[in-house]
Amino acid sequence: DLVLDADFFRRWMAAAAAAVDREADHLTELDSAIGDADHGSNMQRGFAAVTAVLEKESPQTPGAVLMLAGRQLISTVGGASGPLYGTLLRRTGKALGDAPAVTEEQLAEAFAVGVAAVAQLGGAQPGDKTMLDALLPGAAALGTSPGAARDAADAGAAATVPMQARKGRASYLGERSIGHQDPGATSSALLIAALAGTSGA
Ligand code: ADP
Ligand code: MG
Ligand code: MG
Repeated sequence: DLVLDADFFRRWMAAAAAAVDREADHLTELDSAIGDADHGSNMQRGFAAVTAVLEKESPQTPGAVLMLAGRQLISTVGGASGPLYGTLLRRTGKALGDAPAVTEEQLAEAFAVGVAAVAQLGGAQPGDKTMLDALLPGAAALGTSPGAARDAADAGAAATVPMQARKGRASYLGERSIGHQDPGATSSALLIAALAGTSGA
């Protein structure tokens, strides 16, 4: 079985930061259709801060990496997505405990705990056109493999197009939110793709 150590989790966060940089304009474009056109810059600012704090403090366990990254997102990202993504990473990290390395199976279990915490904090249900529509199928498929999780999260993000938003800013648009892909579901798929693209040791 693959062993995922603190370095793996640092590389995941670096890959997520790179993906967010690459896709920032696209995320902002999606948010300009059904929100306030800041999702790309919110995510860029947050993940740049995550990269910086991980270099500075160099946490030594998978759990400590994700908890520090989550705290940093909460303190640097204004808007709905900061506390939600911060909670996702903090609660996933907390669920990993203080083990020096974890298995893919343990990561899948912990990630499901983190996603459940996002659902509890934001009060969204599947089908409400939020990040959960990518996170929930991604978390479920992570038990199979990271590649399956990436595919499921991508499909989940694409499936938000015909949905009407029932949470967050996009919900103010009512039926006019239909026909656009949710920005947060799109960035969640990027986060999971970054995980799938990071190789373990
Ligand atoms: P803001 O809407 O405050 O400008 P962002 O643009 O950074 O924040 O993030 C918007 C994304 O946050 C949405 O596309 C949606 O996926 C997600 N989101 C908003 N509210 C919720 C919620 N209650 N539960 C889950 N996700 C949410
Ligand atoms: Mg926004
Ligand atoms: Mg905003």
